[in-house]
Amino acid sequence: MIPGLTRQSRILGGLWGVAVGDALGVPVEFCSRENLDRNPITDLRGYGTHNQPLGTWSDDTSLTLCTVDTLLHAGEDYQALGRSFVRWLDAEVWTPRGRVFDVGNTTAAAFRRLARGVPPLEAGRDDEPSNGNGSLMRILPVAIWFAGRRTADAIEAAHRFSALTHRHPRSQVGCALFCLIVQRLLAGVDAASAIDEAWRDASAHYGAAPFSSELLAYSRIVPAANLKTLKLREIRGSGYVVDALEASLWCLLNSKSFDEAVLRAVNLGDDTDTTGAITGALAGIRYGLQAVPADWRSNLARHDDLDALFNAFVARTIAPISLLKRE
Ligand SMILES: [Mg+2]
Repeated sequence: MIPGLTRQSRILGGLWGVAVGDALGVPVEFCSRENLDRNPITDLRGYGTHNQPLGTWSDDTSLTLCTVDTLLHAGEDYQALGRSFVRWLDAEVWTPRGRVFDVGNTTAAAFRRLARGVPPLEAGRDDEPSNGNGSLMRILPVAIWFAGRRTADAIEAAHRFSALTHRHPRSQVGCALFCLIVQRLLAGVDAASAIDEAWRDASAHYGAAPFSSELLAYSRIVPAANLKTLKLREIRGSGYVVDALEASLWCLLNSKSFDEAVLRAVNLGDDTDTTGAITGALAGIRYGLQAVPADWRSNLARHDDLDALFNAFVARTIAPISLLKRE
């Protein structure tokens, strides 16, 4: 156990961690590891890949914010969440600077289906190639919201929230593993134990195919002691959901601070903003708000709006259960 941090600090650290990790990666999205080895990210940087000013976050953060906002104001309402996602795609809500400059193909296709009236839990594609990291990158609020629930409830919630964009069981299992790991990090469990315990609980829950077999796609994350010893060249910062979870957990295990973890993630190259966002979530919860550099937070687009939303969410999620109206 890692004492000394409040639950509030961990939740805020995780939420800010998504935005900071995303913004660190945006200027170098799609850059190769070789290029980043020569010119590594060490701080927030402006322009680059998407030609955005310093501190600009992308779809990873936007969709996380839509989820926070919806949970806060509507609870587990998938219609409301779907409407929020579609409004973001139309640049009506939660863009950093009034426009959408980055959206994954699977996600965009799902949002067009939502806009046409497809039920939210059927909107995501469920074919095998549609296993990008696009639901994993936005699942942190769900992990926080369901952290006090039974394992089965948290897993099934992760599956449903994933399904709005990513309905293949591999993506759903990745989101569920992430949520189970976050639950433990929130409780102060060390990273390696959190991973091993989450895997054990997921294995016990998934009795039958397809979920039990899809779980095995993630078998490199356990035991965590083995994942930690994988070489850098064995870790990929790609857009594939399995790579993204492996890489983020590897960065968490092989760092001693928030900034070390997220910079390591971004400098893996390729899908830098998303690997940064997922690692930022995990490291923010592991190390708490105080460990997320204040100048990185203050330089983010719409800092004050993020601050207000995150504080409202944390106040709601740490309130006594009896005060919560959750569906
Ligand atoms: Mg992005």
